Amino acid sequence: MATYKQIIKTYSPFLKEVTHIPQKEVEILLLFLLEKNTIWLHLNYNEECKVEDKLKVLVKKRATNYPLEYIIKKASFYGETFIVNDGVLIPRPETEILVEKAEVILKSIQTPKVVEIGVGSGIVSIMLALLIKDIKIIAVDINSKALELAKQNAKKFNVEDKITFVLSDIFTEIDVKNFDMCISNPPYIQDSFSLPLNVKYEPSTALFGGEIGDELLKKIIDSTVKNNIKYLYCEMGYDQKISLGKYLEKYNPKYVEFYKDYEKHDRGFCVEFNKDENVK
Ligand code: GLN
Repeated sequence: MATYKQIIKTYSPFLKEVTHIPQKEVEILLLFLLEKNTIWLHLNYNEECKVEDKLKVLVKKRATNYPLEYIIKKASFYGETFIVNDGVLIPRPETEILVEKAEVILKSIQTPKVVEIGVGSGIVSIMLALLIKDIKIIAVDINSKALELAKQNAKKFNVEDKITFVLSDIFTEIDVKNFDMCISNPPYIQDSFSLPLNVKYEPSTALFGGEIGDELLKKIIDSTVKNNIKYLYCEMGYDQKISLGKYLEKYNPKYVEFYKDYEKHDRGFCVEFNKDENVK
């Protein structure tokens, strides 16, 4: 009979092609099956492993590039652990920058009202709800399954009273009168872009933004201005700064900042519009 230590050694090579931390990932899968933590595993390395068959199934699945987060149904974001499933995008570290930027402005507003477009698993709205006292958020998505999951996460973090989840395409089903900010990490990848193997398992509706990629972002800009919302904070594609910069100019914004991600690629923008100026 094999011990945990031996089992980890046996199965790690199967994941060599899909991750640079194969041993760690086998451990994570094992802990998921056992519902135990790392400390427990370290104390029990030399005990007999009784879940080899189940582990084998999970390792095989992971070896196809199926994301680890979908298997263990968990992903971390901003130091917290969120529930995820394959109906939503797996949180990306760069989206933490979007939250950080929004937090700065929202802390300066009394009882801020925020609308999030494309809530997915809920990471952005929930983090803002945790960070900002007295915030009120309407979080929309066109995917009812994502909304269900986001609600589950909101419950997990005890912020259900701060966020209203609505099935809506941008603002079609909601009233955003007197809102301070619109925030979004929308799909922004060009439809024809060939995704890396690991991203292929994520929902295409959360990734592809149109023939060019920035179509939805432009729609979000239009809707934000039309509804007289002062701040717009969005994530975007690494090659969309010029086109979106030009597009924003037509609304004569008071302030525009483009920011980069951790890899130094352009990744998002923060805009302050002149309120009332564009509302006819
Ligand atoms: N940044 C993500 C990726 O590269 C895309 C996220 C999005 O389209 N909103 O996979």
